[in-house]
Amino acid sequence: MGEVLYLVVPCYNEQEVLPETARRLKEKLGDCIGRGWISPESRVLFVDDGSRDNTWRLIEELHGQDSLFSGVKLSRNRGHQNALLAGLMTAKDRCDITISMDADLQDDIGAIDGFLEKRRQGYDIVYGVRSKRETDTFFKRTTAQGFYKVMLALGVEVVDNHADFRLMSARAVEALSQFEEVNLFLRGIVPLVGFPSAIVTYERHERFAGQSKYPLKKMLSFAFDGITSFSVKPIRLITSLGFFIFAASLLALCYLLALKLMGRTVQGWTTLMGSIWLIGGIQLLCLGIIGEYIGKIYKEVKHRPRFIIDTILDQKNS
Ligand code: UDP
Ligand code: MG
Repeated sequence: MGEVLYLVVPCYNEQEVLPETARRLKEKLGDCIGRGWISPESRVLFVDDGSRDNTWRLIEELHGQDSLFSGVKLSRNRGHQNALLAGLMTAKDRCDITISMDADLQDDIGAIDGFLEKRRQGYDIVYGVRSKRETDTFFKRTTAQGFYKVMLALGVEVVDNHADFRLMSARAVEALSQFEEVNLFLRGIVPLVGFPSAIVTYERHERFAGQSKYPLKKMLSFAFDGITSFSVKPIRLITSLGFFIFAASLLALCYLLALKLMGRTVQGWTTLMGSIWLIGGIQLLCLGIIGEYIGKIYKEVKHRPRFIIDTILDQKNS
């Protein structure tokens, strides 16, 4: 008998896609159950992220028709990442494995076979990675790829071209629950969880129906959140800049004094210019130093777990 799988699907105003998504997921899970890969107790867990349309009514209907479909309704719209977390936290005590995916069928359902295969090989986390981005607009493709590059450059460990289509074992989700941060960027946190991880590539499809719920504004704030929740490098940049300008100001000061001694300046100019350079440099340097402390505070208040145990071997002496 296979493990119990919970497929977690966040939905925000998805009434156009939900019936078809439900139909295809039912087919897929039925197939996997038939092959004995997963338990018949497996479920599709829809998370209604405070939709304003008929999404929740549809989920209720589906649940009434078939016990395969479960639902969680959030009290209001909290955004994709929070909705996903709510779903994973609801699922973790009821299942052995979770798979998270979007409601719009952009994530290829066929990749689930690959996910389960990796799971059988003993992996706790399987990342769905897009092989191509042809279905995305040029703008989305370039901005997204630029974003991954910036994240990597800032030392944030993210899986390239991976959105939130992934399998996580219950113990990986349990470990994830120890990350108490409010600014949620799951793609950055999951690699920190550790455990044996694998990658399955898939082709991303067009959105099946309805419109993207990620307009440019949300995308930008998501990217900004991702960077500022994981990296203090921007603060280091300020410190370095402050140091650089402070050093430059000392050089400038020598130059200004030399000009003064040669009598090639007007009255008051040297003190004025010298103060501007020196004060500017000192201020930036001090900001950087204060920033370093804020960076430390910021790391402390996140209360991230300091370690996550994989296995304990311990035998009682008898
Ligand atoms: N979503 C959500 N809450 C939101 C915005 C989006 O739960 O506030 C869900 C949405 O229903 C979908 C998934 O997040 O299942 C991804 O959203 P979308 O397809 O609009 O993003 P895109 O694929 O365009 O990046
Ligand atoms: Mg989408």
